[in-house]
Amino acid sequence: MSEPAVAGPAAEAFPFERTLAEEVRRLVGRLDAGQRAWLSGYLLGSIGMGSGAAAAAAPSVAPTATIVYGSQSGNCETLAKRLEEALAAVGVTHVVLDMLDCRKADLDRARHLLVIVSTHGEGDPPDRARPLYDLLHGRKAPKLTDLKYSVLALGDSSYEQFCETGRRFDAQLAALGAKRLHERVECDVDFQDNATRWIDAVVAQMVAAQGEAVPAAASIATHIRPSATVATAYTRKNPWQAPVLANIRLTARDSTKDVRHIELSLEGAGIHYEVGDALGVVPRNHETEVAALLEHLPFDAESPVEVGGASMSLREALTEHWDIGPVNRALFERYAALSKHQALSDLTQDNAKAQLEAFLRGTHLIDLVSDHPLEGIEAAEFVRILRPLAPRLYSIASSPHATPDEVHLTVRIVTYESRGRTRGGVVSTLLAGATDANARVAVYPHRNAAFRLPADPNAPIIMIGPGTGVAPFRAFIAEREALEARGKNWLLFGDRTLRSDFLYQTEWLDWRKRGALHRLDVAFSREGNEKVYVQHRIREHGATFYAWLQEGAHIYVCGDAQQMAPDVDAAIREVVRTHGAMNDERVEELMLNLQRERRYQRDVY
Ligand code: NAP
Repeated sequence: MSEPAVAGPAAEAFPFERTLAEEVRRLVGRLDAGQRAWLSGYLLGSIGMGSGAAAAAAPSVAPTATIVYGSQSGNCETLAKRLEEALAAVGVTHVVLDMLDCRKADLDRARHLLVIVSTHGEGDPPDRARPLYDLLHGRKAPKLTDLKYSVLALGDSSYEQFCETGRRFDAQLAALGAKRLHERVECDVDFQDNATRWIDAVVAQMVAAQGEAVPAAASIATHIRPSATVATAYTRKNPWQAPVLANIRLTARDSTKDVRHIELSLEGAGIHYEVGDALGVVPRNHETEVAALLEHLPFDAESPVEVGGASMSLREALTEHWDIGPVNRALFERYAALSKHQALSDLTQDNAKAQLEAFLRGTHLIDLVSDHPLEGIEAAEFVRILRPLAPRLYSIASSPHATPDEVHLTVRIVTYESRGRTRGGVVSTLLAGATDANARVAVYPHRNAAFRLPADPNAPIIMIGPGTGVAPFRAFIAEREALEARGKNWLLFGDRTLRSDFLYQTEWLDWRKRGALHRLDVAFSREGNEKVYVQHRIREHGATFYAWLQEGAHIYVCGDAQQMAPDVDAAIREVVRTHGAMNDERVEELMLNLQRERRYQRDVY
C-alpha cells in the first residue's frame, strides 16, 4: 500500500506533533478509500466545533448539519455542544453557530438545520437569537425549500408562553418551505431527558442522511461525555455540598430589602469557574412548608411514591423534588381535573380566563389543597400532576483568581404576603437559613459563555447593574485587578437608597482608591420625589459613554429583564444617536455589530 500523504513535514515539527504525525500516518495507512473519505468527513465535522466565529470560518464544503443555538443562560449552548459531540462521534460533518453569528449565507448553505433555542419572559427569544429571528420573520427572509430541520425548544411551563420561541422558529421555518427532519421537542426546566431524546433522534436521522448505519449504542447522546469546558464532576443531580463560610446582610437593618453576601467553600471540590458564570443552587422546600401542606392532604406522609424510577416517602418527594409553591395555569387545570371540584373546572373554561388569572395571583399549592380538598385518590396520582422543583442560578460575584477555592453570591431574600400567609422564595429561604457554622448548600457550576470579560485586558468596560444585578461586576473588577488588566472599568449601580441599599459600598470605594475602578456612577431611586435610575446616569454622561465606546469599550448589563434592560438599551441607543449623530438605521446597525463583536452582553432575566 502506498504511503498516504499526511500534511506537514514531520522532521520540522515539535516532538509531540512528530509522534502525532506518525500515529496518523500509521492509522491512515490501514484504511481503505471509503474509510478515508469517512475520516475526512469526521475531521471536517470536528473543526466545526468551538466558537461560532471558528465555525463560520469552516471550509466552503457544505456541512451535513448546521447546529444553531440561541442561549440566554447557557443551557442551549451546552446542549449544542452535546449534539456536536454526538454528531462528531458518528462522523457527521457539521458546523455550530451561535444564532448571533448565523447569517443569510449560512442558511443558504445549510441542508439540515438543527435549532436549539429557549424562551424568555413573555415568549421572547434570547437576546442573541433576535437577529436570526428577525431575519426569518422579516421581508428579507430566505426561501428554504431545500432545507430540512428540527427544533429543540427549551422553556419553563410556569410561563403562559411555554416554549414560544421554539414554536415560532418551527412554524416559520415550515412557512419558508423547509421540511421537518424530526418533530419539535419541547423541554421544561428539567430538560435533560427530553433533550437527550431529541439529540438521539436527530443524530440517527443525520446518520441516515449521510448514508451510514446508526451506531448500535442505545442512546448516542447519553454515551457522549460532555466537552471538557462544561464537564464537571458536580452537576445538579450530583451537587457539591459547599460549606458556608459567610452569610452577611449587605442592606441596612431598616432597608426594605434583605440582600445577603454569601461565601461558599469550593476547597477540595475541583470546581473551576470563570467570571461571568453562574452557580446553580439545588432547591429544597422548607420542612415547615412541607408539613403545612401535608396537614391538608388526605395521605400519610410516609406513603411511598415514585420519582424518576425511585421509590421514596411522600414527605421526601415533596421536600426534594416537587414544586409546592405558586400555581400556574397548567397545574391549576391538572388539579381541577383531579379534584373534580366544579368551581375549579368552571374557571378552566375559555370565558373565565380573566377570573382565572386573578385567582392565580399569589395562589400557592397549599391554598388550592386547603380550600378545595382532594378525596378518593392515591398519593401517586397527586404527585403526578406536580411540577419538578427548578434549581436557581445566581450570577457569581467572585473571581477565582482573587479568592481561589471560594465562590461568592449576592442574594436577595424573597419574602412576601399573600392570602394571609408569609411566603418565601424556595432557594433564597434556604440560603437565608444557612447561617450556622456547619451549614452546607448543594451547588454546581453553570457555564455562561455569553457573559465574558474582553479577551483584550486593555479594553475598557462599562458595567450596568442595578440591585443584585451588580453581582457579576464585583467578580469582573476583582478578576481584572488580580490579573493586572489595564483596561478602564466603569460601574453604573442603582438601588433604592444610598444609606441602606448601597451594596458593597466600601469595596467599590476601595477599588476606586486603588485605581481598579476608574469610574463609579450611582442612581438611588427612592431618595427624592423623582425616580432616578441607571439609565438617567447613562444619558447624563452620554458624551463620556460614547467616547468610551469609541475607545472600544465593552458594555455589560445584568439584572431585571422586564423593565430595566429595555430601558437601559433605549438609553444607550439614544446616547449613540445623539453623540454619534446617527439616524435610527445606523444606530440599529451599530448595536447589532456591538452584539456580534461581543461588545454588548447582557445577563438578564
Ligand atoms: P430591585 O430593588 O428590584 O431594583 C434595584 C434598583 O433598580 C431599584 O433602585 C429600582 O428602583 C431600580 N429600578 C426599577 N425599575 C427600573 C428600571 N426600569 N430601570 C432601571 N432601574 C430600575 O433590585 P433586586 O431585587 O436586587 O433585583 C434586581 C433584578 O435583577 C431582579 O429582577 C433579579 O432577579 C435580577 N437579577 C438578575 C441577574 C441575572 O440575570 N444574572 C442577577 C442578579 C439579579 P425602584 O424599585 O425604586 O423603582
